[in-house]
Amino acid sequence: MVPLPVLPPVNSAHRRTLAPIATPDRLLLGPGPSNAHPTVLQALARMPIGHLDPLYVELMSEVQELLRYAWQTDNRLTIPMSGTGSAAMEASLANTIEPGDTVLVAVKGYFGLRLADMAGRYRANVVTIEKPWGEAFSLAELENAVATHRPKILAIVHAETSTGICQPMEGIGDLCRQHDCLLLLDTVTSLGAVPLYLDEWKVDLAYSCSQKGLSCPPGLGPFTMGPRAEAKMMARAGKVPNWYLDVTLLNQYWGSDRVYHHTAPVNMNFGMREALRLLAEEGLEAAWARHRSNSELLWAGLEALGLELHAPAALRLPTLTTVRIPAGVDGKAFSQHLLTKHGIEVGGGLGALAGKVWRIGLMGYNSQPENVDLLLNLFETELPAFRPAVAPAAVAA
Ligand SMILES: *Cc1c(COP(=O)(O)O)cnc(C)c1O
Repeated sequence: MVPLPVLPPVNSAHRRTLAPIATPDRLLLGPGPSNAHPTVLQALARMPIGHLDPLYVELMSEVQELLRYAWQTDNRLTIPMSGTGSAAMEASLANTIEPGDTVLVAVKGYFGLRLADMAGRYRANVVTIEKPWGEAFSLAELENAVATHRPKILAIVHAETSTGICQPMEGIGDLCRQHDCLLLLDTVTSLGAVPLYLDEWKVDLAYSCSQKGLSCPPGLGPFTMGPRAEAKMMARAGKVPNWYLDVTLLNQYWGSDRVYHHTAPVNMNFGMREALRLLAEEGLEAAWARHRSNSELLWAGLEALGLELHAPAALRLPTLTTVRIPAGVDGKAFSQHLLTKHGIEVGGGLGALAGKVWRIGLMGYNSQPENVDLLLNLFETELPAFRPAVAPAAVAA
């Protein structure tokens, strides 16, 4: 027998003896992640198969086809990026921006700012137009900005999760075609839950995530690219400046060649396949209607309790509701209470809305009337304890 090599002593300073994981089941009614569908969780727990296994290759095509259905697009280049929604956001910019390109970002919340930040990192000439957090852009405002700045890409968020606003899409695609500009749309909080018609809307680039409307855990970022965006990518002078997210390379794996690029997170794609299968079984129209009716229940219930909704009714997002925190209430203390006493997560405000709103998500599997009732009951019975004993107006007087 060959004697075992003598190894230097191991440093055990970071060694820990932990109990097996035992996270409680929370009800995730915040801005994401949302709860995963039990069927999706079962799919995630399956033994992995090889990422070049013929069975897996078949599953990849199923995922692509069902993503096209969910987005209402025929785009050939429709794939889930390995990574969260931000990875897919980055892919949409990294593949299409060439240094010096003007990218116009219509910012009306936190995720618009992230788009502008990312575009700058790919050395775009970033121009932003802004609206207050809680409003949407009018077509005239976008038209004016596109005509003035002549961008190569107009980037805008469809469902702004930071404000609860849904951007009306009428006419934006035509406007971009007239000015020979690509339309890039963030559909992270709308895919599977809010009406989306990418091809009809003439959207050239879009992306989403797994953990909001699709009832999957976080980990994949669906991405799609239309022919005009593909042409811009293929005409670029240099390589895509991001190896991991390079669609020209990824397409050799997702297309017919099946060339290894990186090891696909196969179990996440099992989950995505099941999530999309369930969505197709329910049907888009039914899923959209379910999100709409449950959010209307929530809106009516909150208003009946005297709470104010931040987004105007016509622009309200069915997946995410911003509720103004009443004067004198410590919003964070109440959401902390919901989490620790009831296992329910509700979000707080971001950026301009920090400390001013709660953000309530009803996304995917969680968009159910029982969840709305549960939450409304807690707002009714337990919020009063967080209200000031004497009205602040009375104190001031
Ligand atoms: C959540 C979200 C993202 C980012 O997705 P991650 O999965 O957190 O990386 C981007 N845009 C919008 C509108 C979002 O709500």
